[in-house]
Amino acid sequence: MMASSSFQLNGIPSVALRRRTKVSRNPNMEKLRNGYLFPEIAKRQNEHLEKNPDAKVISLGVGDTTEPIPNSIASAMAEYSLALSTVEGYRGYGAEQGNKAYVDSSIITGQTGYYIDNTVNKYGGIEYMKCSPENLFFPKDLSTVAATDVIFFCSPNNPTGHAASREQLEKLVEHAKRNGSIIVYDSSYATFISDDSPRSIYEIPGSKEVAIEISSFSKSAGFTGVRLGWTVVPEELSYSNGFSVLEDFDRIMCTCFNGASSIAQAGGLSCLSKEGQKAIQQVIDVYKENARVLMDTLSSIGLRTYGGINAPYIWVHFPGEKSWDVFNEILEKTDIIVVPGCGFGPGGEGFIRVSAFNRKERVREACRRLKNLFT
Ligand SMILES: *Cc1c(COP(=O)(O)O)cnc(C)c1O
Repeated sequence: MMASSSFQLNGIPSVALRRRTKVSRNPNMEKLRNGYLFPEIAKRQNEHLEKNPDAKVISLGVGDTTEPIPNSIASAMAEYSLALSTVEGYRGYGAEQGNKAYVDSSIITGQTGYYIDNTVNKYGGIEYMKCSPENLFFPKDLSTVAATDVIFFCSPNNPTGHAASREQLEKLVEHAKRNGSIIVYDSSYATFISDDSPRSIYEIPGSKEVAIEISSFSKSAGFTGVRLGWTVVPEELSYSNGFSVLEDFDRIMCTCFNGASSIAQAGGLSCLSKEGQKAIQQVIDVYKENARVLMDTLSSIGLRTYGGINAPYIWVHFPGEKSWDVFNEILEKTDIIVVPGCGFGPGGEGFIRVSAFNRKERVREACRRLKNLFT
């Protein structure tokens, strides 16, 4: 581009065009290793297929949904879309926070997104809480856990499939209060809970003063492609100076994100109807049955499994082994893809994650192969 000294682009002074120095990269970006796990799995899968072109690979890996969106919910989106082609039904921008038919003080988002990346970018680092079968996936003594500004907590958990108990969450809220931390609680898998584990952090008294909850229609209603989620920021949540976190959150969201697609929101509202809830439960029951069958198979061949009851993930322990070695062996001998636990953090070494998101027939076939491998 030719830049003259008086040239201005959208109000940016011409000096920005004349300078040749490049923008420096945010050094914290270096620390992000996200995005390495699934490409590496794909690479190994491709290599396997090159060696074994006839292999019928079954993926119990990537946590993407496979069941169709219930008809009533897809129809609600179709109807809304078609109405957009009429003068009466046409709508443009909606409220940035989302359709007000949803509850107050929540903000509808396109996605829950990957919060770790943003945190590493802002704060430059993260501390891991040690969660393993030995401590029931919750730190035994929270007083030894570093005091951080933000605590990310996902329950039911991806990858372990563990749903935190009421007692654990009470301890977490107490810990956040003691340290002045904000909990960001990811309840994207709450609809999979089948026992009396809390479905929301707000079931815990006092949590509104310390917790934001994020959630999504992705895993419950198969909205991984449609994209719709929400964030609840309680009015009770404030900074040390008393200022409302909700006000800042609203400001930032409305700047960075102009609101979720109105078509997706029509689908979301349909999910919340009585009929929608029933249809969603039927889809979830398919995945839960898959999880049950997988757990039965894995236990029957002598493996220790965790999760799988309140979540679509089974966390399988291979004591003393390396996750990637287990991954390779399973792929080579059964043409099944799983996810090596070490890819989720240091505590995952020696584990693999098995996903129940798949068609019923494929899960049954995967179980047959696994039985043959280990017996
Ligand atoms: C799948 C998933 C979500 C949902 O993410 P979207 O961006 O809403 O699709 C949120 N949190 C966790 C831990 C997940 O596994």
